[in-house]
Amino acid sequence: MPSGAQKAGTKLRMKRDEMMRRIKSRTTPWDIIIIGGGAVGAGVAVDASSRGFDVLLVEREDFGKGTSSRSTKLVHGGVRYLEQGNISLVMEALKERGLLLRNAPHIVHDLPFVVPNYSWWEAPFYGIGMKVYDLLAGKYNFGRSRIMSLTETMERLPTIQREGLRGGVLYHDGQFDDARLLTHLIATAVDHGATAVNYVEAVEALKDDQGFLSGMIIEDREAHERLAVHAKVFVNATGIFTDETRRLAQPDAKSMVSPSQGIHLVLDRSFLTGDNAIMVPRTSDGRVLFAIPWHDRTLVGTTDTAIGEPSYEPLALEEEIEFVLDTARDYLSRPPSRADVLSIYVGIRPLVSAPGGGQGKTSALSRGHTIHIDESGLMTIVGGKWTTYRHMAEDCVDHAITLGGLPDAPCVTADLKIHGYHPNAGELGTLAVYGTDAEKIREIASENPRLAEKLHPDLPYIAAEIVWSARCEMSRTLDDALARRTRALLLNARATHAIAPRVARLLAEELGRDETWIAAQVKCFTALAKQYILGPAAEPTAGGRA
Ligand SMILES: Cc1cc2nc3c(=O)[nH]c(=O)nc-3n(C[C@H](O)[C@H](O)[C@H](O)COP(=O)(O)OP(=O)(O)OC[C@H]3O[C@@H](n4cnc5c(N)ncnc54)[C@H](O)[C@@H]3O)c2cc1C
Repeated sequence: MPSGAQKAGTKLRMKRDEMMRRIKSRTTPWDIIIIGGGAVGAGVAVDASSRGFDVLLVEREDFGKGTSSRSTKLVHGGVRYLEQGNISLVMEALKERGLLLRNAPHIVHDLPFVVPNYSWWEAPFYGIGMKVYDLLAGKYNFGRSRIMSLTETMERLPTIQREGLRGGVLYHDGQFDDARLLTHLIATAVDHGATAVNYVEAVEALKDDQGFLSGMIIEDREAHERLAVHAKVFVNATGIFTDETRRLAQPDAKSMVSPSQGIHLVLDRSFLTGDNAIMVPRTSDGRVLFAIPWHDRTLVGTTDTAIGEPSYEPLALEEEIEFVLDTARDYLSRPPSRADVLSIYVGIRPLVSAPGGGQGKTSALSRGHTIHIDESGLMTIVGGKWTTYRHMAEDCVDHAITLGGLPDAPCVTADLKIHGYHPNAGELGTLAVYGTDAEKIREIASENPRLAEKLHPDLPYIAAEIVWSARCEMSRTLDDALARRTRALLLNARATHAIAPRVARLLAEELGRDETWIAAQVKCFTALAKQYILGPAAEPTAGGRA
């Protein structure tokens, strides 16, 4: 077994052709095959490959196309869980928040939050609550919380609704770019020798004479080819699609995931000026709502609505949109309307319900996530949150070692720097989130003056970022490049729609595609972008699987 460090020496870029070549030429079983390329699957790939295991990760859409690109972008302990008395979950998340800031300072940063106080009791109540939050963070604390005067609250939140405002409580949490972190996690796993590929779906389980899972049929959705892959352990990290994947191995598996959706509205930055976020701890219906500065926009959300079937592009309900707008109007001096919404995006949480009794061994390793091994030996990991992906992955690989009889190797991710690590990424300007890769994007930009041009005056991206994403981050479609490698679609859906033809041409040049491909991509992306544009109340806002 080569060590992760040995493999790390041979830096391999994220190249899809190379990944497929490796899969096809493989003659021995992999140590671990991971199904699903969201936060959890990518975390498991990083953990297992950095312990020195041979890892294959397959993702049927794009990395992060599921829930992991649709979060509120917070690396947080979860003040809400504190109120519920879930101390262990908060402590776990606060520790992970600290580790993530240390290992990925180019993607994660400290963000001051203000709980605005309009009633006399809120300052002492939330002031004490946030002190407990500080204490639980211990050495991983981002900054001390404190009760603020009315004057300071208004200075920190120049656009807060001032009528009735008495002051505020300041505390600190983490913020990140979810899809960018995911890309860098996949790159980290690849740096450590993992094979990871998008647009490859696990479609069928193969079992041995005793009914144990021995292989999977996977389908390359670009080449429309199927092939068998074998491994000592299979990890199902398919989030909201967990039950569908479990049923590949065990058709009668009972549901263990209850999907719940949340929406976010993206507004112009002028709605929330300054460098502080607003946390509304109790909305009219008892939820938590955030207004956050993100990539020079204002992000407002989210909701928590139980839904039936999971999908990639779920519908925002009218009542969710009205709820978020109404709550924002209560707290922002300039009330946002539907016409102010630059983009709307919807994600689905993979909440865990108890798996069917007597179907196998279920161990709730923490109150945040669940690892379940079914009768065929398929290991499922689900639940938790983005913030705790590293801890979830560690638990998962520890169990995989036992299940697959793999050589014992300690987890090293608590101190593992994430790909692109840069301690002072701020000096890289708009390319900060790429960390050390920013240098290579600048090199691409210097190849041709057109590649140094901004794609749109209302978006922060240059053409070289698209080229980079196709060359070294496995962008295969307009959606990949514009929704996840860059975050253009989330920042301004109309502007992003306008640049689609130009970006399709850039991708086509890199990927060797023809005019027919360009036309098909633009058509498909146009339909998708419309779902992120908020129309008048009666019109649909998001829907259909892209
Ligand atoms: C609205 C909202 C806000 C949130 N905000 C935060 C936050 O601020 N902070 C935080 O810490 N957490 C947050 N979360 C939670 C966090 O986003 C999720 O816990 C996390 O992204 C789940 O990751 P996952 O890998 O389990 O799922 P996913 O990201 O959905 O990944 C699963 C992947 O499996 C793939 N897949 C499915 N079937 C197959 C197959 N057969 N073959 C191959 N691949 C397959 C899918 O395409 C998908 O990409 C939020 C969640 C929501 C919904």
